Amino acid sequence: MIGLPHFAHHQPTTLAQALKLVDQYGTKAKLLAGGTEVIPKLRCRALCPEQLISVNRIAELSVIEVQPGGDLHIGAGVRVSDVGRHAGVLKTYPGLAHACSVMATTQIRNMATVAGNLVNGSPCADTASPLLVYDARVRLASQAGRREVALDAFYQGPGQVDVEPNEILVTIIVPPLPEGSGSSYQRLSARSSVDMAAASVAARLTLDAQGSCTAARVAMGAVAPTPRRCPQAEALLADQAPDSEHVSWAAAAVAKGASPIDDVRASAAYRRAVLPVLARRVLEQCLIQARGGGR
Ligand SMILES: Cc1cc2nc3c(=O)[nH]c(=O)nc-3n(C[C@H](O)[C@H](O)[C@H](O)COP(=O)(O)OP(=O)(O)OC[C@H]3O[C@@H](n4cnc5c(N)ncnc54)[C@H](O)[C@@H]3O)c2cc1C
Repeated sequence: MIGLPHFAHHQPTTLAQALKLVDQYGTKAKLLAGGTEVIPKLRCRALCPEQLISVNRIAELSVIEVQPGGDLHIGAGVRVSDVGRHAGVLKTYPGLAHACSVMATTQIRNMATVAGNLVNGSPCADTASPLLVYDARVRLASQAGRREVALDAFYQGPGQVDVEPNEILVTIIVPPLPEGSGSSYQRLSARSSVDMAAASVAARLTLDAQGSCTAARVAMGAVAPTPRRCPQAEALLADQAPDSEHVSWAAAAVAKGASPIDDVRASAAYRRAVLPVLARRVLEQCLIQARGGGR
């Protein structure tokens, strides 16, 4: 087993202390949350930071709660497993709950954070697509202040997200959903659920009392350089009373909107073939929920 490289380890207990440290060390520092990405990269020397700054002792980052206005706030230190079993997430955001309960292994889910999953910038990050369909945004803090970025603007390329070296992602903000909403997430991996997804689709539909679609969101993972929304599929569902034909057209549009590659997890052809199947499944599930059916 290769040991870790040398670094100074900081364990601030307040956000103010952590912000001072990232401001002081900038690109020489690496933030550590669950460490499920960072520690393996340290071991193989893909990362050699001089300073490692843990966010794990900052109590204010470990809170997940629904705010009085209805927004769900997920603190950057909240573990994936805690998000997946949170009553408010299970009730209102079943796609996110599902993603948080099926990704990786129990041990990884108990350590990993949703914030780390997003900042890591992987195209196949399991929590990204469900959060995209809920119009989530991230709140970033620095010593200069705070800013919020919509999740679909946060992803800039593979492994590239909109976070400056002197910033810390503090909260993931998920807006409340209107009545008549349904949402779902499905992923496929070629080997087992422990493997990263080879393709994934999330969707959210909101229907009015007449059954017309007032909001449609569809997003995909592992089939493009970043997790991303599929506006073509969304346009085919918006303002329609979606039936099986609309679902088929939208599912086909998801496959057309993807730009998959061949890699160790799956071929581009496999990804293209499974995308419409996943899309049809999540859209059908959304419609059942939006029409008042079970989850
Ligand atoms: C065996 C195994 C299986 C896995 N399976 C999956 C899977 O099925 N699906 C999946 O999506 N992922 C999977 N992963 C990847 C990983 O577990 C997730 O991406 C996880 O959510 C990362 O969270 P973390 O808290 O461990 O991040 P860390 O490793 O602590 O950090 C990840 C990155 O985010 C940065 N960071 C962390 N917190 C902050 C913050 N608050 N502000 C700014 N930057 C921050 C770190 O500096 C680092 O660059 C797997 C990993 C392993 C080892």
